[in-house]
Amino acid sequence: MTERQVINARGAVISERAVREFISSVQGSVLRPGDERYEAGRRVWNGMIDKYPSMILYCSGAADVVTAVNFAREYSLLVAVRSGGHNVAGNAVCDGGLVIDLSRMKRIDVDAGSRTVRADAGLTWGEFDNATHAYGLATTGGLVSSTGIAGLTLGGGIGWLMRKYGLTCDNLLSVKMVTADGQHLNASETENVALFWALRGGGGNFGIVTSFTFRLHPVRDVLAGAILYPADSAREVLSNYRSCLPAFPDALTTMFLFLTVQPAPYLPDHLHGTKAVAVYLCYDGDPQEGLRAVQPLRQLSVPLLDTVEVMPYPRFQCMFDANAPSGLLNYWKSVYLAALSDACIETIADHAEKMTAPLTQIHLQHMQGAAGRVPGDATAFSHRGALCSLNIVTKWTDRAESDGHIAWTRTFAEALKPHAQGVYVNFLGDEGDERVRAAYGQDTYQRLAALKRRYDPENFFRLNQNIRPAGSGQQPE
Ligand SMILES: Cc1cc2nc3c(=O)[nH]c(=O)nc-3n(C[C@H](O)[C@H](O)[C@H](O)COP(=O)(O)OP(=O)(O)OC[C@H]3O[C@@H](n4cnc5c(N)ncnc54)[C@H](O)[C@@H]3O)c2cc1C
Repeated sequence: MTERQVINARGAVISERAVREFISSVQGSVLRPGDERYEAGRRVWNGMIDKYPSMILYCSGAADVVTAVNFAREYSLLVAVRSGGHNVAGNAVCDGGLVIDLSRMKRIDVDAGSRTVRADAGLTWGEFDNATHAYGLATTGGLVSSTGIAGLTLGGGIGWLMRKYGLTCDNLLSVKMVTADGQHLNASETENVALFWALRGGGGNFGIVTSFTFRLHPVRDVLAGAILYPADSAREVLSNYRSCLPAFPDALTTMFLFLTVQPAPYLPDHLHGTKAVAVYLCYDGDPQEGLRAVQPLRQLSVPLLDTVEVMPYPRFQCMFDANAPSGLLNYWKSVYLAALSDACIETIADHAEKMTAPLTQIHLQHMQGAAGRVPGDATAFSHRGALCSLNIVTKWTDRAESDGHIAWTRTFAEALKPHAQGVYVNFLGDEGDERVRAAYGQDTYQRLAALKRRYDPENFFRLNQNIRPAGSGQQPE
């Protein structure tokens, strides 16, 4: 066996002739082991992921996606789908098999009149935000500008505008997608309606989306920034933050963090290396009203720093970029919390004190508002009633330290179990079937499984937070 041989999911070698015919039938470029750019091409955002695909196809358009799906199905080739490559579980690459990469598909057309945008699946949130901001428009998107719009939208989409305008998937109007049988179809509230329901939270289980159409909202400048407090006041600050939550208007979305201050353009040098807690916030509305709304957050204790000011929305959308460079070693655990009880606050603060890696952060994203008011059965995104999503974002650079950082993360996640109520699918690592079910709850999972049987009965799209086709036994090897 040579490193360039393409082996299918059943262990059979695909003839070089068939492989070459496939490569010459697509417009985009293909990387194979041994090619100059293969090493960089097989990498994804999470440096823990170390997989060796047989081929990486950089699609030039939807036709390439159709050709790739048909080729992979005909030859029983394992398929991974990659857009922004940010998924922490590393499902966007595979060992052996074909990576269908959409990251070069970046067309975006804003229709300012109808306040809608048609966006190719390969765009990142930075590219998307800049294009819509030119028209004074935006929709809810991810907190880090290099994250792909595709994976984020299909899992739900938590972002700074969600309490005012809903999740990203709540602003999705339609998609164009390629299903496992190679059909290129539309899904919306009027076409393939059940499929459209599943795509708003069900992830990459149902096919490859080539473009999205979103509703946009007038968003130009926002009142936004960070208020930092010393780590030794964490319990007091988090408990005061909890008391403020019920009074927050929808225009205000906030996130509570435990962190060690890292170099970032907006954080002064003298704080670097300091353990702190912080409230990051975004108010989209009249700045004077915003100042009144955020005032309680400036008095949670005695602040170390307050960077809240009026700024263009895309600038705030890049504020977390410095904390999320590509290539670091990442291990995450996440849960939804229905409430922040005293016991829960104690558990969080206690484990935060024992944090092992300075790059690690603990995020509590306050949900509810417009995102929480969408009926639970309106989309596949579940747990609409949660108060917040708690994400343990463990990061480090030295592989030799991995065991210790992973052990701390697991112990912390275990301690959170009595307080947990499901999990956001886009923050799941490679955690198994039970956790995927926990992301949806029983009713939604069963509805998704029935649709999976209808649209992908062979589980062709299985490198994802996998929903098993209803009635199927074990996942194929
Ligand atoms: C630094 C960072 C910040 C993040 N911030 C947020 C945040 O603010 N809000 C939030 O909600 N989430 C956030 N996430 C989680 C994020 O939503 C997921 O990681 C998501 O999968 C990223 O999308 P992607 O296109 O970059 O993923 P990829 O890794 O490219 O893909 C992930 C999976 O999505 C599916 N997929 C990708 N493209 C397609 C497609 N075109 N059609 C069908 N399926 C597809 C596939 O199953 C694939 O395995 C963040 C993640 C990171 C690493």
